[in-house]
Parts: sequence; structure tokens; C-alpha cells
Amino acid sequence: MNEILYLVIPCYNEQEVLPETSSRLKAKMSGMIQSGLISPDSRVLFVDDGSRDSTWELISKYHEQDPLFSGLKLAHNQGHQNALVAGLMQAKEHADITISLDADLQDDTDAIDKFIAEYYNGCDIVYGVRSSRATDTVFKRTTAVGYYRFLKLMGVEIVENHADYRLMSKRALEALARYDEVNLFLRGIVPLIGFRTSVVEYERHERFAGESKYPLKKMLALAMDGITSFSVKPIRLITTLGVIIFLVSVLALLYLLIIKLMGWTVAGWTTVMGSIWALGGIQLLCLGIIGEYIGKVYKEVKHRPRYIVDTFLNK
Ligand code: UDP
Ligand code: MG
Repeated sequence: MNEILYLVIPCYNEQEVLPETSSRLKAKMSGMIQSGLISPDSRVLFVDDGSRDSTWELISKYHEQDPLFSGLKLAHNQGHQNALVAGLMQAKEHADITISLDADLQDDTDAIDKFIAEYYNGCDIVYGVRSSRATDTVFKRTTAVGYYRFLKLMGVEIVENHADYRLMSKRALEALARYDEVNLFLRGIVPLIGFRTSVVEYERHERFAGESKYPLKKMLALAMDGITSFSVKPIRLITTLGVIIFLVSVLALLYLLIIKLMGWTVAGWTTVMGSIWALGGIQLLCLGIIGEYIGKVYKEVKHRPRYIVDTFLNK
């Protein structure tokens, strides 16, 4: 009991929701501090992921008014995953427990008590899992289901319907810090850590205000990272595909030869065009997949920092 809890909240252009988010989290934290569940040194750490609106002004104002609020300002927009890592790594220095959640209040804050209970039960990692996807669009729902299936097929282990609402103990974070790949897909990395884990179900609400900071393009990039960071199966698939196509083409060649020898000269335009297009397509696809991995290697080899901290406010 009486452990230091840090809530880590990445924020990108979230001025519309921050007033509500901060007051709700303050109520939540005060309650837990008063009941002795967590230490009075616990904090709400907002990570400003290079916002262009007044997000940082709001965060520094909250920090000035109340030491409960801390702020970490990144020098520029690094994306949700990196902002989250920045916040977690900073929190690791001060906290016994961290819980990461979104700024838009989609993650039900009432689940925090259950997270903490699981922690005191001896779990190092607690995953928040959505009990339903009712608040998602049909598109997001179906693509999510398809994606999970595909990941499983590729041998990537992740917790289904878990976004980044999760509790991590200090030692889980210390383990996480040792994974220093640049393309960090937390949902895939965290299950690799091991330790005792548990799952808490929660209701996911609609975004409280403002609009999604995850347009389709960013979502696709995250989905691609999820696959290529954890699995070399696509590369193996290329090999298999290559072997199959080679066998098929040997048969086709035999067939063509027989036709030729028999003198059944057919106008082979369709066959020729068909194979050119099919092979061209498959080759391009394979090149694309290979390119994806080369791109990844290129990024890892450069080993650029994931984020640059501009300011850290913590009283
Ligand atoms: N976010 C961020 N950097 C980005 C994009 C998003 O820190 O480049 C934050 C955002 O402020 C929010 C969380 O990541 O707290 C999840 O984003 P959002 O709610 O827009 O995603 P959605 O719920 O629509 O998938
Ligand atoms: Mg959201």
C-alpha cells in the first residue's frame, strides 16, 4: 500500500478535452490518496507531443496551480507510441506504478481502482481490455478483428482489444527500457517482458471532445509496425510463394511445349499477357514487403533518439 502512482497521458492538440480530463483525474487521484491507496507523491503526468494548440499552456497552468499535475514537453510531434514511451521513462524515475491512458477520456477512469487492486495482488502488468467495441465505427471494428487474426497468423502475440490503457510496475518499466529498438510497438513488446500479468475489462466511451488524432494513415502505419517489428513470416511467405510460382511455371512451360510440338498454335496473347501481369504483380508485392523490412533496418541502424525532451515540470 501507499505506492507512488503516475498516470501517463500523451496529448496531441488536446486543448478541448484537457480541462475536463484534468478535473476528472484530480478527483480520482485525490480520492485514492485520501483513502490511503496511493501515496500523496502520486502525479498526473501529461506528455505534450509537440502540440500546436494551447495544450502546453494548459498543462503548465495546471502544474502551477496544483503539484499533482506534472508536464513533459517533447520538442516535436513524435507520435502516440513515442510520446507514451517518453512519459513512461520519465515516470519510471519517480513512480512505483504507472498507468497509461488517453487524454480524450475514452478509457474509463473507474477501471483505475481495479488496475491498482491487481497490482497489489502481485501483478506487474495489467492490461485494460475493452468489453465492447460499440463506440467504434463499423470500419474500425471489422479492420480490428481482421488485423488481430492476421497478427496471430503471423505469430505475433498481442492482447486482443487492448489499446494502451495499462498498468506497469517499476520493474516492468525497467525491463521495457532494455528494449531499445526505435520502432516501438508497445502492444507487441509488453507481452514479451514476462512477469505476472492480468486483465481488467472496461467500457470504452466516445471521445469526450475534439477529434481523433489517429487518421487512417497513422493507423495503417501502426498496423504495419505491429507486423514487421515482430515477425519475419512475411519474408518466409515470399520464399514459399516463389517456390510455388516456380513449380507452376515449369508445368506451364511443359504445357506450352506440348502445344508447340503438336502444332496447335493458339493465339497465345491471353496467356502471355496474363502471366506478365500476374508475375509482375506478385513481384511488386514481394518487393514491397522486402522494402518494408529494409526500411525498418535502415531506421534501426541509424538509432535515432525516439524523442527529445524540451521541458519537464515536476514539483
Ligand atoms: N496522440 C499523441 N500523438 C499523436 C497522436 C495522438 O500523443 O501524434 C495522443 C492523443 O492526444 C490521445 C492518444 O494519443 O491522447 C490517442 O489518440 P486518439 O484519441 O486521437 O486516437 P483514437 O482514440 O481516435 O484512436
Ligand atoms: Mg481516442
